[in-house]
Amino acid sequence: TRTPVNVTVTGAAGQIGYALLFRIASGHLLGADVPVKLRLLEIPQGLKAAAGTAMELDDCAFPLLSGIEITDDPNVAFDGANVALLVGARPRTKGMERGDLLAANGGIFKPQGKAINDHAADDIKVLVVGNPANTNALIARSAAPDVPAERFTAMTRLDHNRAISQLAAKTGSAVSDIKRLTIWGNHSATQYPDIFHAEIAGKNAAETVNDEVWLADTFIPTVAKRGAAIIEARGASSAASAANAAIDHVHTWVNGTAAGDWTSMGIPSDGSYGVPEGLISSFPVTTKDGAYEIVQGLEINDFSRARIDASVKELAEERDAVRELGLI
Ligand code: NDP
Repeated sequence: TRTPVNVTVTGAAGQIGYALLFRIASGHLLGADVPVKLRLLEIPQGLKAAAGTAMELDDCAFPLLSGIEITDDPNVAFDGANVALLVGARPRTKGMERGDLLAANGGIFKPQGKAINDHAADDIKVLVVGNPANTNALIARSAAPDVPAERFTAMTRLDHNRAISQLAAKTGSAVSDIKRLTIWGNHSATQYPDIFHAEIAGKNAAETVNDEVWLADTFIPTVAKRGAAIIEARGASSAASAANAAIDHVHTWVNGTAAGDWTSMGIPSDGSYGVPEGLISSFPVTTKDGAYEIVQGLEINDFSRARIDASVKELAEERDAVRELGLI
């Protein structure tokens, strides 16, 4: 039998955690033949609810789940971790300035980065889901100088999946026919879903749609503001779709992208496409054997350039703000 993979989930008692843990334990994160050990990190007030979720996980009798540990100590939670899903974050509350939000999250992601640095397994892969995800990932990465920078990633897969779904609906095509969609930039309202290189059943998506007004005034804002639309409709933020995207992100990272396709991941920039080196920005990437590469050589038209630059500018401002706060 295979040695179990240690998967650490922070904010495990939250909404996303509840939608995520059962799918990890049933084999959807890493594969139907890969046993997992779960480590659940919570703040002290969340420990009891996490224990309740763990009882339900026990009650599923998942054949692949070889253990659950619950703790409020990051040093314990990340000990030997192979995969870390950083979901717990400090939400923006009414009247909170961006600086306060970044500072509060720095207090969470800096110690978690250090604990990952000191205790995680050599092959650790980190996905940050908790917002502001890109900058939280930057903070954690900066606190982990001994871990290769590229192991710290931020989630834009939900935006990617949302964009595919909107494009399929607009063109009356199947989601499985849509390939090579890209989310660029920050997981925020400035993100840029790019269909200029996307394909629908092998044909260029932008040419198929042939409607720049729809692109600028409907598609892009619908994708970027989908989270708010779900809160409005559901009375609670998106949780199952966010958890699903986290599963997709790690599954693709570990198991590879399909031939001829790519995905979107927030990753430390190597300077490609004019994105300043070190910013955690979303790019088109292919993955293979647990590693990813930025898709190179795409032509960026003026429409795309302006939008990528605007989102990257926001990321640079967030980076400058956390630098000012001494968090990186
Ligand atoms: P959720 O589980 O709903 O969300 C968790 C985080 O995911 C938030 O930062 C949220 O950002 C973010 N997120 C990213 N993408 C999405 C998306 N598409 N839709 C919704 N959320 C998204 O939050 P809960 O409040 O239910 O649970 C958070 C848990 O984390 C609590 O149990 C709390 O105790 C715990 N926590 C744990 C910490 C730790 O382990 N050290 C630290 C802090 C909190 P946004 O706010 O922008 O929606």
